[in-house]
Amino acid sequence: MTPLLELDQVSYAYHSRNGETYALSDISFQVQQGEFIAIVGPSGCGKSTLLSLISGLLVPESGSVLFGRTLQERKTKEGKKTFPETDSGEKLCSRIGYMLQRDHLFEWRTIYENVVLGLEIQHRLNEDAKMRVDKMLMDYGLYRFRSAKPSELSGGMRQRAALIRTLALDPELLLLDEPFSALDFQTRLSVCDDVAQILRREKKTAILVTHDLSEAVSMADRIIVLTRRPARIRTILEMKFEQKNLTPLERRNAPEFKDYFNVLWRELNSRDLGERS
Ligand code: ADP
Repeated sequence: MTPLLELDQVSYAYHSRNGETYALSDISFQVQQGEFIAIVGPSGCGKSTLLSLISGLLVPESGSVLFGRTLQERKTKEGKKTFPETDSGEKLCSRIGYMLQRDHLFEWRTIYENVVLGLEIQHRLNEDAKMRVDKMLMDYGLYRFRSAKPSELSGGMRQRAALIRTLALDPELLLLDEPFSALDFQTRLSVCDDVAQILRREKKTAILVTHDLSEAVSMADRIIVLTRRPARIRTILEMKFEQKNLTPLERRNAPEFKDYFNVLWRELNSRDLGERS
């Protein structure tokens, strides 16, 4: 099966008057349709840079980032290689949704007006889109808050509204950059559960950057562990729970959870957090 996203030997450095900062080196991995990937690594190793490269905000210095249709076309043309080749940022941005630490809801707009904002900007707020938005608001418990202002909602509800705003644009891939870290622990657990279930139900592919190892183990199908800067891939762990389709909260109580957490902890805290030989 053709993956949705493929990074092939991607490297990136920031250039400034003070010199070069090598952020990523030789990163290669694939993401399949419907997969939930978590990326963990030491602070400052290059995780956000990686998301910026995937979303097309940055262009790799070497290697390629291929996504969706471009990747499909490339696979069918295999043999006539014209690579390295990378999707342009403009093409990618409309197909990729972001969920960030802050929900960025506008206080002067109602929840409904916030949720349809992206559709309005892209001139896509037609009857079909309105019906889809209403259905999501109903399914995810926000319909009766359509006319409320964001300040009237709890932190968890606000993050749900932000997610619906992103999903309203029907992105092919969702990039989640520490989306729960501004929430208190209790709220964080339940929002994490909500978000995972919404993404599963909507059959979305997602990449989550987090520093919270429990969050990564409770949500991901695979976890990519990065080394210190410049980040290389140290290891990729597949999360296999005997019971299928567990919610993040249920995973936390499953017997495998502790073992995966410990493996991750060891990988990230080994004295040599360089590339594994
Ligand atoms: P992480 O998300 O893992 O904390 P980042 O991807 O934000 O790491 O940053 C990786 C490295 O690149 C860090 O050392 C950071 O200081 C550096 N960096 C990030 N953005 C810039 C920039 N615009 N110019 C120069 N260096 C940068």
